[in-house]
This record gives sequence, structure tokens and C-alpha cells, in this order.
Amino acid sequence: MLETSAINKASVYTEADLATLRAGLSGELLRPGQAGYDGARQLWNGAVDRYPALIVRCQTSQDVAQAVTFARSYHLPVSVRSGGHNTNGLALIDDGLVIDLSQMKQVTVDPARRIARAEPGLTLGEFVRAVEPYGLVTTTGTCSGNGLGGATLGGGIGWLMGKYGLIIDNVRAFEVVTAAGRLLTVSATANADLFWALRGGGGNFGIVTAIEYQLHPVGPVLAGMVIHSQANAQAVMRFYRDFSSAAPDELTVYAVLATLPEIGPAIMLIACYCGEDLAAGERLLAPLRQFGQPLVDTIKPMAYSELLALLDPAAPDGRNYHDTAYSLKQPGDDALDALIACAQAVTSPFTAIVIHHVHGAATRVPAQETAFALRETHYAIVNAAGWEEGDGAAHIAWAKESLARMQPFASRGLYVNFMGYEGEAAVRDAYRANYERLVALKNKYDPTNFFRFNQNIKPAAQTERGL
Ligand SMILES: Cc1cc2nc3c(=O)[nH]c(=O)nc-3n(C[C@H](O)[C@H](O)[C@H](O)COP(=O)(O)OP(=O)(O)OC[C@H]3O[C@@H](n4cnc5c(N)ncnc54)[C@H](O)[C@@H]3O)c2cc1C
Repeated sequence: MLETSAINKASVYTEADLATLRAGLSGELLRPGQAGYDGARQLWNGAVDRYPALIVRCQTSQDVAQAVTFARSYHLPVSVRSGGHNTNGLALIDDGLVIDLSQMKQVTVDPARRIARAEPGLTLGEFVRAVEPYGLVTTTGTCSGNGLGGATLGGGIGWLMGKYGLIIDNVRAFEVVTAAGRLLTVSATANADLFWALRGGGGNFGIVTAIEYQLHPVGPVLAGMVIHSQANAQAVMRFYRDFSSAAPDELTVYAVLATLPEIGPAIMLIACYCGEDLAAGERLLAPLRQFGQPLVDTIKPMAYSELLALLDPAAPDGRNYHDTAYSLKQPGDDALDALIACAQAVTSPFTAIVIHHVHGAATRVPAQETAFALRETHYAIVNAAGWEEGDGAAHIAWAKESLARMQPFASRGLYVNFMGYEGEAAVRDAYRANYERLVALKNKYDPTNFFRFNQNIKPAAQTERGL
């Protein structure tokens, strides 16, 4: 289990201490019972209901540094929030201090150098809408609602990764507040060891307060979805596997097995062609559009931001969610049949299986070049249970059973941003040969494991003490 309650015995702060903290902030300090507190503890996942002792809604990196210093002084456990979209609710901690970056949304674009500097509280959709008017964009995740901060730090897989790599492959620099409360610039030439760790190491090494991205001329993309009934699932999924695995860098295709209003159990094959020659894209996509008897075909040239918004209605804020996930290398027919059986056993119309195809440029970066180690071509698959009411036990059981059913086919190592509560061994598997180097950097930058409410890489001292 991730630790949700205070680990250190917090020392008591006084009203005067809080007044001093509040006076030094550009942002707000929120406490239980205060206006705005309940709104500030809402996450995307409505099933997460936690009560932090303090929420610092930061406006600046100085606010972040002050919150870190305060938490250290009073031994308060901290969580860090950017978009608040993590399904496990890693952004919120019971009884601790939340360092909330969700108000930090500035973006500046240098179109001549094709660079954007963005704050982590932006959603992916907000970021894209800020850069797209310049005809520029970079890899993001799949839907608009995710926070830029968390999506970037875990690695960032998305529609453009075949051509431009992961989100982290497009990061030029970070601004970071360390566990010691120091503000650092981190890039290939400044604090290069930390630059390596932040590209995939999640929230383990510091609080990122700004990110500089390399942008690319993209758009419009040729994108949309072809929808089939699950009645033809065997043929459609075999076609999907063969078509996606042969796709060139410019074309990324995901599959989503979900229940759609007016259609019922369906398979959505969602494609994004991001090459310059849309006629070539039409030719590439023709077999996808001509296969079987699609019920719907929405593929057309569209702005990248429009593609990002396509899946948003399926995952609204405040619904209850529970995910399990796994990786599959090239799946055989037996794996596809087991996956279809999982889809056919769903317990809720709001549940989906989402299949992300990790390929192309994202897989050609050597595994030791960034902390993110899963550089092989594979499918990252999320069993996303969703429900509106009740305790969710049946839906959570479906997510767990689906994972268990697929375990015989799964490959080792799961993307940290898709992990649930798997624990230390799974985190090691995710980082593979990079893990020991990450531990060494954790020892250097966060030896007390101040940043531990995440997919945690423990410093050696804690592992030795059996903590
Ligand atoms: C519906 C859905 C779709 C998704 N699709 C994709 C996808 O296509 N591609 C993909 O790569 N991921 C995807 N994800 C996973 C997503 O990237 C992670 O959940 C990510 O953590 C969300 O970022 P956030 O800023 O909203 O996180 P939050 O919930 O705000 O934070 C999660 C954790 O990330 C860390 N963190 C966040 N911001 C910072 C920061 N600024 N500094 C230090 N640590 C920080 C902290 O440990 C924090 O507790 C998806 C998730 C969902 C729920």
C-alpha cells in the first residue's frame, strides 16, 4: 500500500506559525473548515476522499520553497499536486501538507526557437491550446484533462510519441524545488544528474515548478475513431494488433473497449497520423477504415487539441475510478482472447480497457539515457473501472480479476504513471537497470525520502533500516 497517513510524528505548529507562512505566500493557505478547502481537495477520481491538514495553493516557485521548508520544520508528510488526475490520488495526503501547483498555469512560447516554458498546473489541453496557435505542439498524453506536471515526470506516452518520442524526450529544462527547499535549474548542462532522473523518475526528486519543452510544427493531424461492435471482437482485435504493430512513426493507433450509448459494447480504434502529407496519411489509414463493418468512422483532419478532447467525455471529473494496468509485448491470439473476455465481463457501463501502443521514436531512445526504462515496443494496457454510485467493490474486483487473467501474458515492467498499489518490486521492474542509479540520486537529492507519496524510490538508508 502507498502510505496515506503521517509517517513521522508531526510536531505541532501554532497559529502564529501558520500566520507567518500565510504572510509569506503569494498563493493561499487552506485549512479544514475554511472556504475553498473542500473544493481544493477534490480530485479527478471521485473515489479519493482525503483530508489534508494544510493545502498550500502555490502561485510561484517561492511559495513552493516556503511550503517545503514549513513541512520540513514541522515534520509534516507532503503530497504534490499538479493536475490532480492520478487515479491513486497521489496528489492528496490525509493529515499532511499538500503542495498544490494547480494554479500555476503560465505558458510562454518562443515560436522562432520552437520552445515553450510551461508551469505544471496546466492541463495537457490548456498547454496544447496555448502553443497550437503557433502551429507548434509536442508529445502529450492522450486526453486533455491530465496535469502537465505528473504526465511529464512519469515519462509521458501519447499520440505523437511514434514521431517525437515521449514527453520527456522533448524536455529541455526543468525548474525544481528540492527537498532542501532550494530552487535549481536543471538541464543537460546544469545539474545533469537530476535532469536524467526527472525524465521518468516521477515525483521522487523534487517539485517541478516549470518545464521547458521543444515544440514541433504539427497539424492538422488526420485523426479520429473507427467504431466496431464487440460482437466482432476477435477479428477486430487481431486486425488492430497487426495494423498498429506495422504502423510507421507518424501513425499511432490505440484501441478502447468500452460500452457506448446507442451502440453498446464497442471497440474504438483511435488513430492519429501526424505526418505533413495528409494524402499519405489517408492511404495509410485506408485499411483501418475499410476493415470489417465499422459502425462509425470519424477520421478527418483536425487540430491536435480536438483529438485530445475526443476521450474526455469518457472520463469526466468526479466519477469514481479504479485502475489496474500491465504491459504486453506483441500479443498472441490467446492474449487477445483473454483481453476480450475481460471486456465482456465488465460490471459497469463506465468501465473501459484502454490499449496504448508505445512505439517508434519513443522506443529508440537508449534505456539508460533517461530514467524511463521501458523503451521497447509494447502495448500499455489500463483496465479502467468507472462507476457513479455505491462502494465500487464489484468494479474494483473486475479490475483486479482482469489483471490476474492477463498476468500470464504480461511482460515485465509497467509504466509508473499507470501503476496502482503494486509497491517497491514493481517500481524496480519499471526502472530495471536504471533503478540503482535512481537510488543513488535519491540518496543525494532526497536522503530522508521527504518526497515519498509517489511510486517511491527509497533512499538506501531507509531500505537498510527496513522502512
Ligand atoms: C484518464 C487518464 C488518462 C491518462 N492517459 C495518459 C496518457 O495517455 N499518457 C500518459 O503518459 N499518462 C496518462 N495518464 C496517467 C497520468 O499521466 C498520471 O496520472 C499523472 O500523474 C497525471 O498528472 P497530474 O499532474 O494530473 O498528477 P497529480 O495527480 O497532480 O500528481 C500525481 C503525482 O505526480 C507527482 N507530481 C505531479 N506534479 C508534480 C510536480 N510538479 N513536481 C513533482 N512531482 C509531481 C507527484 O508524485 C504527485 O503526487 C492518464 C491518467 C488518467 C486518469
